[in-house]
Amino acid sequence: MTPLAKILHRRISATSPITIADFMAECLLHPEHGYYTTRDPFGRGGDFTTAPEISQMFGELVGLALAQSWIDQGQPPAFALAELGPGRGTLMADVLRATRAVPGFHTAMQLHLVEASGVLRARQKETLSQYRVDWLDTAGALPPLPLFLIANEFFDALPIRQFRRDKAGWREIHVAATPKGLGFGLTAPVPVDMLDHRLADTRPGDIVEIRPSAGPIIATIASRIARFGGCALVFDYGDWRSLGDTLQALRNHAPEPPLENPGEADLTAHVDFQALAEAAAGTVEAAVTTQGEFLQRLGLAQRAQALAANLSGDRLREHEAAYHRLTAPAQMGTLFKAFALHPKTAPRPPGFEP
Ligand code: SAH
Repeated sequence: MTPLAKILHRRISATSPITIADFMAECLLHPEHGYYTTRDPFGRGGDFTTAPEISQMFGELVGLALAQSWIDQGQPPAFALAELGPGRGTLMADVLRATRAVPGFHTAMQLHLVEASGVLRARQKETLSQYRVDWLDTAGALPPLPLFLIANEFFDALPIRQFRRDKAGWREIHVAATPKGLGFGLTAPVPVDMLDHRLADTRPGDIVEIRPSAGPIIATIASRIARFGGCALVFDYGDWRSLGDTLQALRNHAPEPPLENPGEADLTAHVDFQALAEAAAGTVEAAVTTQGEFLQRLGLAQRAQALAANLSGDRLREHEAAYHRLTAPAQMGTLFKAFALHPKTAPRPPGFEP
């Protein structure tokens, strides 16, 4: 067992089984043994890779979309440029490089990064050493300014709870201690008001996931955008509505059972975009499309061609593979979604046109 598995086994044996959300939170952010608190997991030597790590084109196009939205909203002279869960800082670095030529954008911006991991904060500080950056623990600490915010593969890392439907209602799937280690179990039937509306579109045996911390974060961002202006661009994998078990562990680029190596594997679950839209409903407008569609509408193909003109050999092949990976339906093009929040009075951000 990993050191964290031993700690959790002892705790569960002494008290009671824990929710999958508690398990995920410990695995990802335990101060000593957490996955994100102890390492930089990205890239080839790491456990997984993300769109900004695959190609600079992703961040460049996201940056230009943000700048266009800033222009569409009258170029507010002071605004917060913020990112949730910036990883290595690569996406923000690409956004900043691409927007350098937009008159007034850099002078008006204040950079804010919301990051829980000390190791990754240090990494972001290196990547963004040319800029003044303010690190925050939560989105609630963002300043009272127009907010232009990005988040890539942040929401999938927030803990989920899982419920299994039976005839009349729900049982929660929890993590229990077994003689051999940790195992999944089921609670007695519990009333779950939040899932009443899902009784209509699920059948006994179906699993539904909820992500308790996502709604409040989206509500905070939405209320800033409603009050001060701005927009949020969120990228992640998932669907319009949660159905089925999507909890997954990834170590060395390979999937493994989620309870196998607590603290040493990345744990994520699909994002329920309907839940995000509902958390923002009434305050701002939400729009969603696939990542592939979003990037193509912003001119990914032309940008890819322009870059390809200066490449040859292995570098050209890598570049072509990156383009394919970002957009192909069987890769990140369809499973990954682009989700936007914008004021009711402002046009949709580029890439989300109806
Ligand atoms: N956006 C980056 C990294 C995605 S991984 C990329 O696309 O490459 C998830 C990121 O969210 C990491 O930086 C992780 O440390 C951070 N994170 C996870 N849970 C968090 C939380 N509750 N609060 C703040 N940051 C969190």
